[in-house]
Amino acid sequence: MPKVVSRSAVSSSTDAQPTASSAAALRVYYCICGEFILVIDKSLATLPRRKTDNAIIIRAQDSDAGKARVFKLNAVSGDPVLLERQGGHERQYRFHCPRCSLAIGYQSSPPPVKSSPYFYILTGALTQMQGQVPQDAFDGANDS
Ligand SMILES: [Zn+2]
Repeated sequence: MPKVVSRSAVSSSTDAQPTASSAAALRVYYCICGEFILVIDKSLATLPRRKTDNAIIIRAQDSDAGKARVFKLNAVSGDPVLLERQGGHERQYRFHCPRCSLAIGYQSSPPPVKSSPYFYILTGALTQMQGQVPQDAFDGANDS
C-alpha cells in the first residue's frame, strides 16, 4: 500500500524551512484503549523525565529556561491527589482518558491544562499506535 501524502506538504521549494515545517512534525498519542489523547510537536521519547516517578516532562509555559512545547491534550480532569515525597508533599491534579478514565498525566495546579509550568505524562500511559502492532514487533521472526 502506498502512503498517502498530504497535498499541503507539497511545496514549490525543496528546501525545508525549519519554522514552517513544525506542523509536519506533530506526533499523535493514544490511550491504550485507542482514544486520541495528545498531539505534540516533539516525540515523548526525547523529552526529559522526572526522577521521582519517571513521568515525562512537557514544558507547558514559556520561561527563561526555554519555550513551551506546542501540545493539545484530550483528557478530563479528576480529583487532586496528595502524594508523599522526600522532604514534603506534592499535590497532583490528574487528567484521565475520556473513554476508559485511565490516568494519563497530571500537573501541579488545578485545570485547565497548562496552568502550571509543566505537564507530566505518566510512564507507559500513551502509545503512538492506535490498535496496531508495531512494525518491528516481529523483527527476526520471519526469515522466509
Ligand atoms: Zn483510554
